[in-house]
Amino acid sequence: MNITPIAELRPGRYDYMICVRISRIWEFRGTNEDDNIKHLDLVLLDQKGDAIYAEILPDAIPLLNQYLQEGNIVYISKITVNNAKPSYRAVGNPYMIKLNKRTCIIEAKDQPMDFPKYTFDLVSFDKLHDFTSKTDRFLDVIGKIIAVSNAAMISTSSLDYRMRRIVKLQDLSGKTIDLSLSGKRAVEFDGETILEVGQNNHIIAIFVGTSMKILKGTYEFLSGTTACRWYINENDIPEIKMFQKCLPPHADPIQKLYLQSDEDMQRSIEHKTLAELKEIDPFVDKDEKYQCTATIIGIQERKTWCYQACKLCNCKMIWDGSILKCKKENCPCRQYEYKYKIPFIANDGTASLELVLFEKKGTELIGRTAETMKRQYDINQTPPEIKAWIGHKFTFIVKVLPNITINADEPSFEVLTIKERFGRQHSSQGFKATKNLPISSSSSQQLHNLPPLVPILSKKIQHEIEPPHDIQSMEVEPYNLETSTLSGKRAYEDPNSTDQENDEEESTDYGFIQTKGKKKRST
Ligand SMILES: [Zn+2]
Repeated sequence: MNITPIAELRPGRYDYMICVRISRIWEFRGTNEDDNIKHLDLVLLDQKGDAIYAEILPDAIPLLNQYLQEGNIVYISKITVNNAKPSYRAVGNPYMIKLNKRTCIIEAKDQPMDFPKYTFDLVSFDKLHDFTSKTDRFLDVIGKIIAVSNAAMISTSSLDYRMRRIVKLQDLSGKTIDLSLSGKRAVEFDGETILEVGQNNHIIAIFVGTSMKILKGTYEFLSGTTACRWYINENDIPEIKMFQKCLPPHADPIQKLYLQSDEDMQRSIEHKTLAELKEIDPFVDKDEKYQCTATIIGIQERKTWCYQACKLCNCKMIWDGSILKCKKENCPCRQYEYKYKIPFIANDGTASLELVLFEKKGTELIGRTAETMKRQYDINQTPPEIKAWIGHKFTFIVKVLPNITINADEPSFEVLTIKERFGRQHSSQGFKATKNLPISSSSSQQLHNLPPLVPILSKKIQHEIEPPHDIQSMEVEPYNLETSTLSGKRAYEDPNSTDQENDEEESTDYGFIQTKGKKKRST
């Protein structure tokens, strides 16, 4: 059988045999590294230095895994060639390979030293900004490491709680960018050795498989998840040697950064009563975390318990004419899944406040994802599994939801952590315990006279009573839309974590779903 160079692979033929080095392997498990593996990803390189991305689906992984070792040169046959995926391309090749249960992999007897090892397409630091939040390709960069942090367990958003490590990179012009390694990669990166060696030596690194993210609208950084790999001070990479040549002989010592873990942070979080939380200024205190202990006394009935979240960026899906599309500008995604946005009302005897649980915390509390609950319950019908928590007392760590709060009379908070559960409170008990607390809210006095388990309606927000933007779109059943787009489902999976920002953004405009719901009930 003839060996076909990667550059000549085309869809439609089944008799290809390739001889390649397995340059990179990574597992894709979705946003959570603890989930089941969704596919195994490879970057393959041939003798000519051409690269192609290859994918193995879960059913074939156990059969092929033993032959797959990063760095090895192998012969592979019985493969199919497809068009490359539209997002998160690791290499520039317009095609990709799919390995299957019948694929044959044989290790090459001779492993020639001159067989290419690495592939990357370096993006200069001043071009990185153009790729912020873009998902079409992964980014490869080269830089000098000027600072490294410890690895720490951090939750940067409600959907994301994992190990992180920050690596600060500098290019030859002096421009710097932070790279945030997360999950396993944060632990695998040998920051300690780099700090030690970097006290007297230049540390030049190429990071491949990263993406540009933005946090809080201003902080742009590179994110490295499972697809990320690094080559540090490798003498056989000409780009690294070239970089070294341009540096002064004397190396400034690498700085050690301290990344505070959630555990450390929680110790210093201020405890506040709900009455005190009501006074929070969303402009000033939008990043502050607070601890509060309160009993859930109801659910905002005018809001839904879940929403249609973009599969790619987590934003809310909105109707644009007759198509359901992501609210975020330039997001190409058309697929969504239901995610929690449970608007609980809590009371601690000083005041009542809205505390919102998004998908991760909602799943933690309810024990099932919103997607599975949605199969059983309508979006306008709060499931009994959620209502069952009314009357339970918790200690939460919360953060204000600035976008909702700025335009509302009462602030709304997101639950970041369910710190302690005190179980169901008997109505009299729950409030007796907190009766002596200072009362600074006018509404809380009335609350003492109310039965505590009655849900409280939210304030009418003006756009809720506006007519729907497009009457026609009302006719489209979201269920049908979902199944009709399932074929392209896998194309937009995001191997990176999503930001809570997105959730919050979408929370500001739930009026549209409400209008839909009302119409549904009336028909
Ligand atoms: Zn989106």
